[in-house]
Amino acid sequence: VRDLPEQINYKKLKLKCGLEIHQQLDTKHKLFCNCSTAMQEREPITIVKRKQHPMASELGEIDVAAQYEYLRDRTFNYQVFPNEVCLVCLDEEPPHEVNKEALDIALQIALLLNCQIPNEIHVMRKTVIDGSNTSGFQRTMVVGLNGFLKYKGKKIEITHVNLEEDAAAIVKEENGNVTYRLNRLGVPLIEVGTGLLIGYTPEDIQDIAFTIGLIFRSTSKVKHGLGTVRQDVNVSIKDGERVEIKGVQDLGILAKVIKLEVERQLSLPKVVKETRSANEDGTTNFTRPLPGAARMYPETDIKPVFIDKKYVDGIRKTLPEPWTKKLSRFKSKLRLPDQLAKQILRSDYLELFEKIAETKKVEPTIVANTFTSLLKDLERRENVKIENLAEKHFLELFDYLAKKKIVKEAVPDILKYLASKPQETVADAIGELGLKPISLEELKNIINDVTAQPGITFDKAVGLVMSKVRGRVDAQMVIKTLKRLRRI
Ligand SMILES: [Zn+2]
Repeated sequence: VRDLPEQINYKKLKLKCGLEIHQQLDTKHKLFCNCSTAMQEREPITIVKRKQHPMASELGEIDVAAQYEYLRDRTFNYQVFPNEVCLVCLDEEPPHEVNKEALDIALQIALLLNCQIPNEIHVMRKTVIDGSNTSGFQRTMVVGLNGFLKYKGKKIEITHVNLEEDAAAIVKEENGNVTYRLNRLGVPLIEVGTGLLIGYTPEDIQDIAFTIGLIFRSTSKVKHGLGTVRQDVNVSIKDGERVEIKGVQDLGILAKVIKLEVERQLSLPKVVKETRSANEDGTTNFTRPLPGAARMYPETDIKPVFIDKKYVDGIRKTLPEPWTKKLSRFKSKLRLPDQLAKQILRSDYLELFEKIAETKKVEPTIVANTFTSLLKDLERRENVKIENLAEKHFLELFDYLAKKKIVKEAVPDILKYLASKPQETVADAIGELGLKPISLEELKNIINDVTAQPGITFDKAVGLVMSKVRGRVDAQMVIKTLKRLRRI
């Protein structure tokens, strides 16, 4: 089947995009203090109220006007959580030195993206005007420059890899009162910027973002789940201005966001330079005019980090298997079809999949399908809370499957059961749902009963038997046995 021709010719429109992708790192501690990065606490132990005042930087050239406009009359309420917020987070104590674990991961990513590594890493301050940072600025450092990524035989320019601190997450804003959760503030965040992408379709650009995401994941040290990856994309077309769209959280809607933005720009008499924020459905809202340059100045509280050749060589030795190699290994050794191999590479369950496929005697295709389509189906169609399913549930489930204590047809019902009762075990689910595999003898008896019915056809018999043995015997086994008994 051929795809329908694109209604919009993006090449003719001279579509130009630039990507900036942010990914939270899964380190033990935050970037400049010893707080946990778990972000698990729900109940704040206290709330710190602050008014912020606009301040010129030490170099004295920031958007004071814009900053003032925003901060005027606003009160910020910062929620404080045990173990996840400290005096550094509250800007009451100077930042500690750069978290070495985070720096190592950032350097791995910079090397995987073929970047040059600077000899000295300097922490810079980037002015933040919305109160999402208690200090009024975000700390960031360049760890890689002038890299590239191979995509469909071409080189995609990687302008920079930065390591920075994540901002506090907004809870609500009403009548000039803004509430933020401080546990996200300071969590290490990688920012990767691409050069201008010209001559690509929106789908290509989404695919490039995915590929960068795969490189992040290949380190096994990044956070998973909604909100852990955020991307900004700037979009311009022939004779137009650049519009920046911030905060696309779902990699899967990036192409749609770009398409809708192109349509929006085509419908306007004149495109204005601006920043827009992304909604979940791919549409965007205006947020503010695009800020000018010169928002960065040096962080004077933290000493620069010197990176010598020995350090970089050490990091180079720890680089993970490149995702392209992993993909071909999944296809050749584990015999996954191309599409499924790509899906599992992009899945949050990649590491768990590898662990199970390597240690348990189960068909890798069944494991991969469970982690991709089955979980998605259960979530979408049956509202199953799949976030309740933990690693131990899956390990136990596939252990049962490997030892033939269940059949693969029982997997969906067991997962549904465990998602609703996460404290129970696979054995509990089997007992409760009656999913113990039946013996060949029992199956034969059921088949004899069904085929004894007058006027029964083969297809009808298959359906009837299946409904009686659902989840307790392999479907192929039913058909094989029916054929072998030759009663119809
Ligand atoms: Zn802290």
